[in-house]
Amino acid sequence: MTGPDPSEPLLQMALRVEQDIFLVRQRGREVAAAVGLEHQDQVRLATALSEVARDLLRTADGADVTFVLDVDARSGRPALRVDLAPVGPLPDGRYEPQSGAVARLVDMLGVVQDEGDTVVRMSRRVPAAAQALTPERLAELRAELASSAPGTALDELADQNAQLIAALDEVRTQRDELEVLNSELQETNRGVMALYNQLTAELEETNRGVVALYAELDEKSAQLRAASESKSRFLANVSHELRAPVTAIIGLGRLLADSASDPLTSEQAQQVGLIRSSASDLLTLVNELLDLAKAESGRIEPNWAEVDLRGLFGQLRGTLRALATRSAVELMVEEPPAPATVRSDEVLLAQVLRNLLHNGLKFTERGEVRLRADRRDDAWSLSVTDTGVGIPPELQERIFEEFYQVPGETRAGGTGLGLPYARRLVTLLGGTLELSSELGRGSTFTVVLPVGGA
Ligand code: ADP
Repeated sequence: MTGPDPSEPLLQMALRVEQDIFLVRQRGREVAAAVGLEHQDQVRLATALSEVARDLLRTADGADVTFVLDVDARSGRPALRVDLAPVGPLPDGRYEPQSGAVARLVDMLGVVQDEGDTVVRMSRRVPAAAQALTPERLAELRAELASSAPGTALDELADQNAQLIAALDEVRTQRDELEVLNSELQETNRGVMALYNQLTAELEETNRGVVALYAELDEKSAQLRAASESKSRFLANVSHELRAPVTAIIGLGRLLADSASDPLTSEQAQQVGLIRSSASDLLTLVNELLDLAKAESGRIEPNWAEVDLRGLFGQLRGTLRALATRSAVELMVEEPPAPATVRSDEVLLAQVLRNLLHNGLKFTERGEVRLRADRRDDAWSLSVTDTGVGIPPELQERIFEEFYQVPGETRAGGTGLGLPYARRLVTLLGGTLELSSELGRGSTFTVVLPVGGA
């Protein structure tokens, strides 16, 4: 595209008397229209021009007005430039439009030095669609503008009036649109507020519910704690109170059966034997209850020391061999790998393992019961594996509850207190007691203990 030729003015005119102001305004609008400025912009430029013209006529006896199609230095786009070279000197060499709003009607308005002359200059960018202004077209425009006869001041006044009415109309439409927008906004605001209030109310409601639930939960846990404490206290008291009479019954039974006492008939001897064995079962139960109550109430303090697992295993091998009476069941105690030490309470740990081995021997008809120790990182796994009856999956947690025994397996006797007690002790020692079992194939109880203790 060939750029417009900026050197040659599109139109030149003189501003000397009052009427010229109308003329300058009218011609300014014509030039603006000719170079492709939109209607609104034509009015803006014409208005700015007449304001500046009025100012200059008053302060500097008029001006020479030149219209040029120029290239805007900043955007590189064509712009319509109007230079008003004052006839006389500007006061203080400066120019300030009477109304500050004038500068906003154009892209640029100010005083510039042009080849030594002081010029008031304004410019307005020409829209992209009008950029195809070839030098030929510009020459044409110049010719048209030069030949078109300027109208009278009255014509221009009528024009100006029409423009004013149009501008007023536009302002009114904009105000109406603004009102519609405003009322829509208010409506939306009301909706948002209603939603917000509803949400807040719902949130408060939910909060109240949650708070109430928490209070109830706290109350329930306090009740549960109290119930558990009184259960432990009751168990401890009852079993403690029962121990003395039961021990007395056992003692009396022994005395009755003693050879130094009066001889009993065989019937009597048999009945006394039954009394004695029942009483010693009762004593076992009472003792176990007492142990459990003590563990639950936290009255057992582990006696922490370095425990030698090899020694402990040897001791268990010795004491339990006597229990392994079934010839079809073998008790295997493996040697723990060195260094076989763990920080724990030897008596409590022995009690747990003895209990597990005892159960294994009780519930195994044939095969073996094996005790072994495995060290993994910072923990020992002490496992008791048997090839016995096994425990159905749905009961594998229940057997850790007090008094629970697998239905149909009670022929082995017992109280159902061994496993809950064992788990309590292991927890006290900082470890866990886990079970894996398969019905009919056997079970493995594993005590996992941290090497360094709890
Ligand atoms: P007790 O042995 O005195 O009945 P426990 O608490 O030690 O009480 O065990 C609870 C129940 O768990 C036992 O009655 C038995 O049904 C089941 N049980 C425990 N150990 C084993 C095992 N090694 N094999 C199969 N069942 C077992």
